[in-house]
Amino acid sequence: MESTSYILSKTAFLKLEQCEKAYYFYRKMPYLRDKVDTDKQLTFLRGHSVGFKARELFPDGLEGFQDGMTVEEAVINTRKLVDSGTSVIYEAAFIHNQVLVITDMLVKENGKYIGYEVKSSLKVSETYLKDACLQYYVMNHCLAAFEDMFLVTIHPDYRASPHANVRDLFKKRSVKEKALENYAFFAFKVDAAKQLLEKGIVPDRPTGLHCFRPYQCDYFGTCWKNDLSEKSVFHLPLIDKGILLEWFHSGWKTFDQVPNEVISKPIHKRIKEALTTNEVVLDKVNLKQWIAKLEGYTAAFDIEVWAPAIPELEGTRPFEQIPFLISIYNENGTFSYLADYVTDDRKMMASYICEKLAHYDTLLVYDKTLEVSVLNQLANLFPECRDDLKAIESKIVDVFDVVINGWYYHPKLLNNFSLKKLSSLISEEQYTDVTSGLEAMHLFTEYRSQENAIEKEMLRERLVHYCELDAQATFGITRYFQTLIK
Ligand code: SF4
Repeated sequence: MESTSYILSKTAFLKLEQCEKAYYFYRKMPYLRDKVDTDKQLTFLRGHSVGFKARELFPDGLEGFQDGMTVEEAVINTRKLVDSGTSVIYEAAFIHNQVLVITDMLVKENGKYIGYEVKSSLKVSETYLKDACLQYYVMNHCLAAFEDMFLVTIHPDYRASPHANVRDLFKKRSVKEKALENYAFFAFKVDAAKQLLEKGIVPDRPTGLHCFRPYQCDYFGTCWKNDLSEKSVFHLPLIDKGILLEWFHSGWKTFDQVPNEVISKPIHKRIKEALTTNEVVLDKVNLKQWIAKLEGYTAAFDIEVWAPAIPELEGTRPFEQIPFLISIYNENGTFSYLADYVTDDRKMMASYICEKLAHYDTLLVYDKTLEVSVLNQLANLFPECRDDLKAIESKIVDVFDVVINGWYYHPKLLNNFSLKKLSSLISEEQYTDVTSGLEAMHLFTEYRSQENAIEKEMLRERLVHYCELDAQATFGITRYFQTLIK
């Protein structure tokens, strides 16, 4: 085996691609990494479950990288499995030219080895492609009988069915051609990585758009801690990040330093003034017009969706948004409906929505995108409900419009226009431990599989409480806006 002081791993390579400083931190100062937030953890978890499902494509494999092993032990173990002719190896680990790769599945077919890297996605991104090409580069050197490397993604045309085959769920794409084209590129990258580490100096790379591409960098907190001062220009909302970076690097580091002449849109100017003077923006004319739309009997509602990567309900697509919870709030209180989906409850959900929302004149939501999409999906699925659902959609008034158009802006919002943030400024109501739609989705998955009745009820309560708070907050914010124009 070659030197075990490997320079690159998949993660390290992707960090090097993003920024040499990120790579240096990863290798030399890993303690600087930001805390992984809940949504990111849940995305990783989803990736693992899709990877696990993909093993059914090549069942009964043996683990190259077993729990408790070091990387070096995993490489030795994988080699042993290869030498003994194992036909399917999961988490197969290899090192070449100080590059470590761990591929999801390595399969021997007709005497040749083929690697498979699984992604919990419907599409192949540039990042995935580079990752798979790096794996090809290493395995092609380590295995005499290496034939090809495939990226495995979720097939967008898949529909859940009791008769569906796992092969229908996944789509494979060879990266061989691309990987062979890029051999010199990987040799160059390994060299660059070695030099960076040998120098032993943190690379002098200023912050920029690369900090957000393809993902927000893991060392964002370290590099941006001074740039994100209380008055940082980056707190200006609604302005393109590229423009903010230009301003920042030209010396306008705080919002009060940005000259009004360079800000083209009046709303951006107003918000900059609000941040500088610490005064609320209130556009009474537009706010009055918006409030005039609120006629008659009014309620606010919120819908939560479940969008499993691997669909479970018959006929549904991967990542299809399935409404599982609705909360409606009016002056008399809140009521909710949570569908268990032991069987397909979408018809029940459509009927509940039609029955409970039909008699309102105005329906408030905060950012209507998801709610409108759910109503349209249900209308397509159940033509007999279409007219009622379309009538409900026509009564929706989006509270988010007030904020996104700058008719109301509170300087404490900075660039966070979320319902939770806005609500925290005008209401005492505290949000629960559930903080995002993704977390609610995850809890719902737990709820469905929970067999203990008490635990199940507790999960149900947490979910319903979360959704009810959103509906209440939407209603409360609207009432607050009404007081502002009196
Ligand atoms: S935050 Fe930006 S500058 Fe800092 S390491 Fe990450 S990508 Fe590089």
